[in-house]
Amino acid sequence: MKFIGAHVTTEGGVENAPLNAHKIGANAFALFLKNQRQWVVKPYTAKTIDAFRKNLDDLGFKPEQVLPHDGYLINLGSPDPEMLEKSRAAFLDEMQRAEQLGLDRLNFHPGSHLKKISEEECLQVIAESINITLDKTKGVTAVLEITAGQGTNVGYSFEHLRYIIDRVEDKSRIGVCIDTAHSYSAGYDLRTPEGFDKTLKAFDEIIGFGYLRGMHLNDSKKEFGSRVDRHESLGNGTLGWNPFRRMMQDSRFDQMPLILETPNQDIWAAEIAALREMAG
Ligand SMILES: [Zn+2]
Ligand SMILES: [Zn+2]
Repeated sequence: MKFIGAHVTTEGGVENAPLNAHKIGANAFALFLKNQRQWVVKPYTAKTIDAFRKNLDDLGFKPEQVLPHDGYLINLGSPDPEMLEKSRAAFLDEMQRAEQLGLDRLNFHPGSHLKKISEEECLQVIAESINITLDKTKGVTAVLEITAGQGTNVGYSFEHLRYIIDRVEDKSRIGVCIDTAHSYSAGYDLRTPEGFDKTLKAFDEIIGFGYLRGMHLNDSKKEFGSRVDRHESLGNGTLGWNPFRRMMQDSRFDQMPLILETPNQDIWAAEIAALREMAG
């Protein structure tokens, strides 16, 4: 079964996310657990938690159909001790929020070296950040998202993600999310059948499909290998429909959230319907 959805708004409260997903015909969704541009946000009330869980349940969403995304300020590989401490506290807060909502995974961008430390040092700091957080939480998997390699972001190769996974103590709570636009911009050519197969073979050899906890389905405004992160609606970018059609017919992408982060929200329902048709 394919779980297909989009990163929906939480305007008015996180409890609205399942309703917004349901409205566009989604059987999966992503959401921000708190304002993604603020460091500190007040905790959930018991009422919010109950309402979220009730809506999730009423609409038939299971935890494996939900992929929360962490906030944009967090850098778990920061070379600056103060920023690192702040990031780790904020990440812990997000993992605890996922736990409170009864969710089982949290998607995040690994981090940035800001030209102050090497990529390798940055990856080591990220692994340490994950270990610290997993020690203080339970039931929620930390899901590394592959990046486009824009700016000083690390995590733009399967080897980077593997390097982090190797250093995480609790392997049962570390996972990976492939964003199609990011991986394509980072140099994995998903356009052709050969490129698609080669990429997935490399993914399986270097990381392993067992670690895959979700996908972000985005076309790209920029050309292949640009290392620039600009999402486009499916079929309207340089990637085209081919990789999405192939994914929909591939059982390795069953039973995990497949999430649109495409720019035109007005056509999300149509994009989901098209994907569902391809899945058959
Ligand atoms: Zn992301
Ligand atoms: Zn993404």
